[in-house]
Amino acid sequence: MAFDLDMIKKVYDNYGIRIKAARNVVNKPLTLTEKILYAHLWEGNASQAQERGVTYVDFAPDRVAMQDATAQMALLQFMQAGRPTVAVPSTVHCDHLIQAKVGADEDLVTANTQNKEVYDFLASVSNKYGIGFWKPGAGIIHQVVLENYAFPGGMMIGTDSHTPNAGGLGMIAIGVGGADACDVMAGLAWELKFPKLIGVKLSGKLSGWASAKDVILKVAGILTVKGGTGHIVEYFGEGAKSLSATGKGTICNMGAEIGATTSIFGYDEKIAIYLKGTGREEIANLADAVKEHLTGDEEVYANPQAYFDQVIEIDLSTLEPHVNGPFTPDMAWPLSQFATAVRENGWPQTLEVGLIGSCTNSSYEDISRAASIAKQAVDKHLVAKAEFTITPGSELVRYTVERDGYLNTFESMGGVVLANACGPCIGQWARHSTDPTRKNSIITSFNRNFKSRNDGNPNTHAFVASPEVVTALTIAGDLGFNPMTDTLTNSNGEQVKLDEPQGLEMPVKGFAVEDAGYQAPAEDGSAVNVLVDLKSARLQLLEPFKAWEGSDIKGLKLLIKAKGKCTTDHISMAGPWLKFRGHLDNISNNMLIGATNFFNEKTDNVKNQLNGEYGAVPATARAYKAAGIGSIVVGDENYGEGSSREHAAMEPRHLGVRAILVKSFARIHETNLKKQGMLGLTFSDANDYDRILENDTIDITGLNDFSPGKPLTIVLHHADGNTESFHVNHTYNQQQIEWFKAGGALNIIRMGQKA
Ligand code: SF4
Repeated sequence: MAFDLDMIKKVYDNYGIRIKAARNVVNKPLTLTEKILYAHLWEGNASQAQERGVTYVDFAPDRVAMQDATAQMALLQFMQAGRPTVAVPSTVHCDHLIQAKVGADEDLVTANTQNKEVYDFLASVSNKYGIGFWKPGAGIIHQVVLENYAFPGGMMIGTDSHTPNAGGLGMIAIGVGGADACDVMAGLAWELKFPKLIGVKLSGKLSGWASAKDVILKVAGILTVKGGTGHIVEYFGEGAKSLSATGKGTICNMGAEIGATTSIFGYDEKIAIYLKGTGREEIANLADAVKEHLTGDEEVYANPQAYFDQVIEIDLSTLEPHVNGPFTPDMAWPLSQFATAVRENGWPQTLEVGLIGSCTNSSYEDISRAASIAKQAVDKHLVAKAEFTITPGSELVRYTVERDGYLNTFESMGGVVLANACGPCIGQWARHSTDPTRKNSIITSFNRNFKSRNDGNPNTHAFVASPEVVTALTIAGDLGFNPMTDTLTNSNGEQVKLDEPQGLEMPVKGFAVEDAGYQAPAEDGSAVNVLVDLKSARLQLLEPFKAWEGSDIKGLKLLIKAKGKCTTDHISMAGPWLKFRGHLDNISNNMLIGATNFFNEKTDNVKNQLNGEYGAVPATARAYKAAGIGSIVVGDENYGEGSSREHAAMEPRHLGVRAILVKSFARIHETNLKKQGMLGLTFSDANDYDRILENDTIDITGLNDFSPGKPLTIVLHHADGNTESFHVNHTYNQQQIEWFKAGGALNIIRMGQKA
């Protein structure tokens, strides 16, 4: 329906040439990951094919996907670029803001009312700028992308951590912040540290209760939540070829739980079957024509230790189903050991709720296998002991599994079908509980199970397993139950055993849908108005930031000298603030409220030099701004580590902070500051941090000669009349200096559009 065949043709046309050029540079057999990365080097620049884990490289992704929560600021920023349309095919998916309470229909009506202004904005801005819009209820971003947009050998960025789900169709798909999405939509290069590679060799074939989910649950146990950081995980081997495309998607999806940059499988027959079954036969044909480029070289897979930084081997034939948790997805328990672990650790053994579906596990195969267990409960007169919910990943899947009777089966077992949305996976769950302080257990087929994630209750012990294992444990209502070995007592008092799950990879009658929930953008959006209510507390159109004044920046007041850790969470807190993420002025009221003031060890309490009073950081910044005075933030080591959220750079810019001067930066945050036209500076001597005093007024000089590699100078005017100065470093290249001068990267693009 909505995929872009011409774009895919163009990608494949250049594929062989680009990979050949990169081969000449690296001169060795290539993994699949390297092939795709090299095929997507910015402007085909093969000289960029460089050292893993060291070099930052510019890429040209083929497409962008955004979920509704993160899309707001990405698109508000994109509007600043002044382009008539997005530079690459892009889509918006309304999935995160729907709360699960009663069931699909009613919950959707409520969401459409509560989030009307956000949905109206996203629909209209998409319509104007050539962006595909998936309405609330259409499905969860990653399932919809898998069904419509993912293609073998492509490269996508998405404003959500589980974007790697598209690796199931052989795509390099990476979760990013809104600023990165904005850049790519605006036509800029996208930078990534060239990743290291983990190879996972799969042999054998799954059988019985084991499923693709168990592969990643086991991998998570091996690598832990940090083991994939800075790496792309490439799956290969006969076992990989035996897994369905959606099963591959599940594995790649949960690669986010080991911190991997992304995960990927090579193009094979299973992927071709899925492409054809979802109406994309042309893409399968195109992929067939370049298939030698859509898998790793033979030499690599014959001797993986020589080509990957780390290799893991898993035999699918002997893989046991796993249950992971509680509180962390890498605490992996083979099913045979789980009951003992529950007892020994004193986790609540009674299971209260089982939840299946989500972007991770709501394929036709998943639903049909889980339904085969639910049907047995009905047929064998078992009454489910725990509550049961089903979250379909898309309307395409929901409609098809309803047609094929599976939803009916779940409902016969007592299941409640929720909207095609994130719901309980992201805490959008009005869980009915009599006593939230009571320790309790739930099990899901989702991906994350950190404390409080699903229902906001820290006493909830959340476990993660495959949909079929979740369904079986839900029937038992008991975490001590092992469906592979144990029996249950039915309503006739008989002991019955559940048979192994049976499912179908693809629907025999094909997929079907009445209204998938897609809204194509206007052919010519120039006359379309973007809908933003001027009185809205959640959305605010952005004004371009001012260009540099062309002289040294003088008279800055010290806003805060932050002590110790200052992550993007300290700079721009999440939680309740997230509802303002589309309103820069309102969300700026959280700016740096988590940072510790060096001078009094307090958070959100700094001296206003204009009146000598102590107050909140945002209010103090606003006071300086109102007086026409710029301010400066001083920080410690690795300032801005954590999530890549662009608000952490935009808020100081909005509140008049001109420079961030720190001992060292987390790189992504440093780049975000540069993009917003801020000065991100580092002490050349870390001891100079100690020279900064609470009542300092600060100048930054040398800006008329601002050039790559040349230090700038900080002049401190202390309250006692003394003055001292020292050099500070920066990492601005020539292009980034132009961003600074123009007042931000988007200002440059806008000027280019006008030229
Ligand atoms: S279902 Fe969960 S993991 Fe998937 S996109 Fe939604 S919130 Fe993220």
